[in-house]
Amino acid sequence: MATATPLQMQNAVSEFLAAPKKLLIDGKWVAASSGKTFETLDPATGEVLGKVAEGDKADIDLAVKAARRAFENSAWSKMTASERGRIIWKLGDLIEENGDELAELETLDNGKPISVSRAADIPLAADLFHYMAGWTTKIDGSTFPISIPRGEYLAYTRREPIGVVGQIIPWNFPLLMAAWKLGPALATGCTVVLKPAEQTPLSAVRLGELALEAGIPAGVLNIVTGYGETAGAALAAHPDVDKIAFTGSTEVGKLIVQAAAGNLKKVTLELGGKSPNVVFDDADVDSAVAGAANAIFFNHGQCCVAGSRLFVQEKLFDQVVEGVSASAKKIRIGPGMDRKTQMGPLVSDEQHRRVIGYMEAGLKEGAKATAGGKKIEGRGYFVEPTVLVNTNPNMKVVREEIFGPVVTAMPFKSVDEIAAEANNTNYGLAAGVWTRDLGKAHQLAHRIKAGTVWINCYNVFDAALPFGGYKQSGWGREMGKESLELYTEVKSVCARIG
Ligand code: ADP
Repeated sequence: MATATPLQMQNAVSEFLAAPKKLLIDGKWVAASSGKTFETLDPATGEVLGKVAEGDKADIDLAVKAARRAFENSAWSKMTASERGRIIWKLGDLIEENGDELAELETLDNGKPISVSRAADIPLAADLFHYMAGWTTKIDGSTFPISIPRGEYLAYTRREPIGVVGQIIPWNFPLLMAAWKLGPALATGCTVVLKPAEQTPLSAVRLGELALEAGIPAGVLNIVTGYGETAGAALAAHPDVDKIAFTGSTEVGKLIVQAAAGNLKKVTLELGGKSPNVVFDDADVDSAVAGAANAIFFNHGQCCVAGSRLFVQEKLFDQVVEGVSASAKKIRIGPGMDRKTQMGPLVSDEQHRRVIGYMEAGLKEGAKATAGGKKIEGRGYFVEPTVLVNTNPNMKVVREEIFGPVVTAMPFKSVDEIAAEANNTNYGLAAGVWTRDLGKAHQLAHRIKAGTVWINCYNVFDAALPFGGYKQSGWGREMGKESLELYTEVKSVCARIG
C-alpha cells in the first residue's frame, strides 16, 4: 500500500467527503434525476459523513441504457482479451496505491477497525482484480466429435459474456463485495450497473473514479447509489438486464428472484448463513479457541459466514466456552478510526436494534451469557461481544441469522450427532471443523451441506476459491473459475464442413 502522511490522508478523505457524491452513468458523474440526495452516517457517532445522490428507477433506466450501448457497440466488446486484462490489473494496482484512503473511507462509513480495512478489505479487493485480470485470456471453449453418420462436422463451444449485469451489494465489506461482483463481470466482457448498499456507498464511488482512471470505457461500469426498495428493486426487475447478482439477506434474495422472473434474467445469490463451527475433543485447544472467537467476532459478526453456532465435544466444552468468553471480554471496543480498536460499532441504528433484540430474545428464552449480552450505552452503535450457553436448536438465536457478534455454544457427543446438528439449518454457507484427526475432519467436511468448510482455520478467503451457498444460502458461486462461468453463456456452433 502506498504511504501518505496522516495529514495528506486526512485532506484526501475530507476533500472526497466535502462534495455530494454523484452517480456514475456513461462515464460521467451526474446528480440523481430527481435531484435528491441522502446522508451516509458514521456509525461510531451517528453523525453525517457526507451526502450521496439518491438514484431511483429513472437513474437505473439511464444506467442500463448506457450499459447496453457499451455492451453492444463500445470499445469494450471489441477490445482484445489481453487489453481488457491489463485494464482490470491496473484497477487492482490503483486500489493498492490508494489503499490508505480507501481503508479510511471504509472504516468511516462501515465502522470496522482501520486495521481490518487495511489488512483485509483493501488488499483482498486489489487481489481479486489482479486474479480476474489473468482470466480474460483464458476463457475458452471445447471441440466435440459429432456422431451423425453422414457428413463431416466441426462443432465447438464459445463462452460469450452474458450481457448487461445488475449487481446489488451489501454493507458489511462494501469495497470487497464490489470487487467480488465486478471482477468476473469485467473479465468476461460484461457491462455493469452496480448498486451499493445505502448504509455504505462511499468506497464504491471512489472505486468508480479509479475504474475510469484505469481506463474502463464509458458505460462499462455504471454506479447508482440509492435505496434497495427503489433503485435496487428497479434494477432487479429491469427488462433489459440479462443477469442480476445479489449479495444480502435471504429475505431480499427471494424478492430478487421474483423480480427477475419478468424477463427470466439469470440470477446468482449470495445470502445468509448460520454456520456451524465444530470443535472435537482432540483439537488443539488454543487454536480452536482463537479460531472460534475469530469466526464470530471478526467484522463484529457482520459476516454471512460468521461461525455463529459453536459446537464443542463434551470433554472440551467448558474449557472452550471459557476461552472464547475470555477473548470476548478482552476485545477492545471503540471507534474504527482508533488504531487500538479491535471491534467497532455495528453499521447502523437498525442493525444495532436488531442485534440487541436477538440478545434479549435469547436471554428471555433461557440462554445464559458467559460474556456480553448487552448494548453499550452512549453514542454510536456498539454492542458487547456475546457468548450464549444453555441454548437449544429450537431457540430463535440458534435458528436465525443475527449478523452481529453473538455466538451460541452447545455441547455434542458423537460425529453422527454433530453431522446432523450442523446441517439442522435452512442455510448452508460455511462451516469450521477443529481436530487433529484429519481423516475425521475430511469425513465431516464431506457430510456438511455448505459451500465452504474450513479445517483448523476459519475466514480464509482467496480469489481462486469459489464461494457460495447450499440451501437457502444462495445460488451460484463467487470468485474462482466458477464465478466466470456464471457471467457467460455457452454457445454451441455446429458447422457441416463436408
Ligand atoms: P440488510 O438487511 O443486511 O441491510 P439487505 O438484503 O436488505 O441486507 O440489503 C442488501 C442489498 O440489497 C442492499 O444494497 C440493499 O439496498 C438491497 N436491497 C434491499 N431491498 C431490496 C429490494 N427489494 N430489491 C433490490 N435490492 C434491495
